[in-house]
Amino acid sequence: MLYLTDPEELASIWPEEPGYRADQLRGWLYETPVLTTDEMTNIPGLLREDLELWPFEVEAEQVADSGRTVKWLMRAPDGASIEAVLMGYAKRTTLCISSQAGCAMACTFCATGQFGFERHLEAGEIVAQVAYAAAFLRRHGLGSSPPRVTNLVFMGMGEPLANYRHVKTAIDRLTGTMGMSARSITVSTVGVAPAIRRLAEEPWRVSLAVSLHAADDELRSTLVPLNKRYPLEEVIAATEYFMDETGRRPSIEWTLIAGTNDTMDQADRLARIARRLRSHINVIALNPTPLTADQPPTATATRAFIDRLTSAGANVTLRDTRGQDIDAACGQLRARQMTVEP
Ligand code: SAH
Repeated sequence: MLYLTDPEELASIWPEEPGYRADQLRGWLYETPVLTTDEMTNIPGLLREDLELWPFEVEAEQVADSGRTVKWLMRAPDGASIEAVLMGYAKRTTLCISSQAGCAMACTFCATGQFGFERHLEAGEIVAQVAYAAAFLRRHGLGSSPPRVTNLVFMGMGEPLANYRHVKTAIDRLTGTMGMSARSITVSTVGVAPAIRRLAEEPWRVSLAVSLHAADDELRSTLVPLNKRYPLEEVIAATEYFMDETGRRPSIEWTLIAGTNDTMDQADRLARIARRLRSHINVIALNPTPLTADQPPTATATRAFIDRLTSAGANVTLRDTRGQDIDAACGQLRARQMTVEP
C-alpha cells in the first residue's frame, strides 16, 4: 500500500535498488499517477509484481450528470468506507474528498452525520483519493473539463479539522510532493475554532470554507451540535484571525432548509456576518437525507433568500447540486450503502 508510505521513505521498500528507483516510483505515485502498477513502465516487472498500489479497493464507481460527475466508494482493508466525488465544469475539475470515514459532528441535516463516526483517515488515504482521481482523469478524462484535478475540496465525509494531524500531513504532501497549489485546496469546517486558528499559522495558505447554516446561537445549536462547544462568536473570531494571518477571504457555506434557516431575519444576520468577514456566501439547497423530514425550500423561497442577501450587499452564489441520483450530492455520502447494509 504505497500511498501509506511517507513519499520521502519510499527508498526503504527496495533497499537493494539504486536510489533513482524510489524517485521513479514517487513520480508514478504523485506526479503522473497511474491506475495500475503495470503502467509504471520504467520500473522492472519483477519489482512491480509485489507492489500494492491503493490503500483501498474501489467497490463502486457511479456516473451521473451525463458523465460530468463520478462518485467512488472505496473500501479500506479494515472495512472503513471512503467516498470521493469528481465534478467536471467548463474550466475546472473539482474533486470532493473525505477526511474521515463517517463523522462525529452529527449535524442534523447531513447523512454522514446521521450515521456516526467510523474512524479518522490516514494522510495516505486522503492523498490516495486525489491520486486515484488524477489517474482516472489521465486515462479517461471527464468530457470537456480539464483532465486534472484543478480544485480540491474537503467536503466529503468527515470534519477535516477534527482529524487535524492527518489532514495537515496530507496537505503537506499535496502541496509538496504532488505540486498542487494551496489556494486550489479548500478546507471546509463546521467551526472547530481552535483548529481554524492553527490552520491560519500553517506555512501553506489553503482556502477556508466555514459551514455556518444559522446566524444565531439558538438556531445554530439545533442544527450543528458543535455550536454548543464553539458558539458563533468564537467561530467568527477564529475566522477573522484566519483572514488576518493569511490574507485570504474565507467563504461561508449555508445549506438552506425550508422553514428553518430560510427566513429574512436569518438572511439579514448572515449578511452582517459576511460583511464582517468580507466573505463570499455559497448557498446550497438541502439535499434530503434518509433520517429527517427536512426539505429544501421552493425555488421561489430560495430566490427570495438570495435576493435579500444581495440587496444587503453580500456576494452570494447558489451552488448547483450534482450527483443527486447517485447519492453523491453534498451531505448524502454514505447514505445508500448504510441503508442497504444491515
Ligand atoms: N465537516 C465539514 C465538511 C463536510 S460537509 C463541514 O461541515 O464543512 C461539506 C458541506 O456539505 C458542508 O457545508 C455541509 O453543511 C454540506 N451539507 C451537509 N449535508 C448536506 C445536505 N444534506 N444538503 C446540502 N448540503 C449539505
